[in-house]
Amino acid sequence: MSKAIDINGVRIGGGNFTVIAGPCCVESEEQILQIARCVKQSGAGLLRGGAYKGRTSPYDFQGLKEEGLELLLKAKKATGMPVVTEIVSADHLPLFEDIDVIQVGARNMQNFELLRALGRTDKPILLKRGMANTLRELLMSAEYIKSAGNNQVILCERGIRTFETYTRNTLDLSAVPALKAMTDLPVVVDPSHAAGKEFLVAPLSMAAAAAGADGIMIEVHNDPEHALCDGEQAITPEQFDEVIGKIMKIREIIG
Ligand code: PEP
Ligand code: MN
Repeated sequence: MSKAIDINGVRIGGGNFTVIAGPCCVESEEQILQIARCVKQSGAGLLRGGAYKGRTSPYDFQGLKEEGLELLLKAKKATGMPVVTEIVSADHLPLFEDIDVIQVGARNMQNFELLRALGRTDKPILLKRGMANTLRELLMSAEYIKSAGNNQVILCERGIRTFETYTRNTLDLSAVPALKAMTDLPVVVDPSHAAGKEFLVAPLSMAAAAAGADGIMIEVHNDPEHALCDGEQAITPEQFDEVIGKIMKIREIIG
């Protein structure tokens, strides 16, 4: 069993199944508060929301940055949910003081100076697998954080690039049992960035639970059609509620 990491009362690992949910990007106070309240009611333990976005194109929405962090913290205060958000530069660390879990995006998995800087903090780190990285490379990146003094690393499988183009990435579900055999760090699955299509999110989430993941991270939006980022893969709060119900049944079956 993976070791448990305590995030202000919410545990990841240690036999728990933890759901992280929220929009790709924090867009407005109304948006993040509304989504936060819905996902909490459906059973999410942690709220996600990007403030600093590592986008492929410099012309795409880059996030609300500092204002996004503030809005996320407002949602944390309003709901009591710990929050997860991505960091793109170690220079921003002072702004992340009240953030509960710092995410390292797939594109930064081998940004070793960033990993070392995060290793010197006492924050849990959600480390996403790079889209072209092996499991051993993912574990070596985790070692950069651990060897600098921070053992609170959560691994995240979010799909890798293959010859298949129908899906945004190919979800490597074998990563879940494989990583569990290689390390005691908790392993969560992000079906949203793997799929890139909203109708694939529910089946991949259920499959992740069946494969023994310690949790999932799902992008949820109250108005996916008008989302500023990743609307095609966002599910609505109603769809989220339904998939959580199904996941809980799978968890009962696999024990
Ligand atoms: C995200 O989780 O918002 C994100 C950008 O994911 P990834 O780094 O896996 O592409
Ligand atoms: Mn996204």
